Amino acid sequence: MDDLGNLAERLARNSYLVDEAQPHIQVDQEAVRRTGAGPLLVRICPAHVYSQGVDGRIEVAWAGCLECGTCLAVAPEGTLTWHYPRGGFGVGYRYG
Ligand code: SF4
Repeated sequence: MDDLGNLAERLARNSYLVDEAQPHIQVDQEAVRRTGAGPLLVRICPAHVYSQGVDGRIEVAWAGCLECGTCLAVAPEGTLTWHYPRGGFGVGYRYG
């Protein structure tokens, strides 16, 4: 199996308890548009949480977030609001 296959298999072993009431990542669409950060967010996330529509809007599939913090570290200031999920919610690492 190739490396990507192994990665997908390992990610599938994680568990996620999604806090539907409080998304832990929010995007300021105007700031993303102004800074051109969309492609960076799409490219940098190992869990493919971000996608960009043809209209340039960034969609956030935050339920699959690995809480690695990479997007927060590289995103231009003001583009993201990010915090850890409330206690008991979020990713649980298994065997990967
Ligand atoms: S914290 Fe990591 S996994 Fe979560 S959205 Fe940011 S880059 Fe992706």
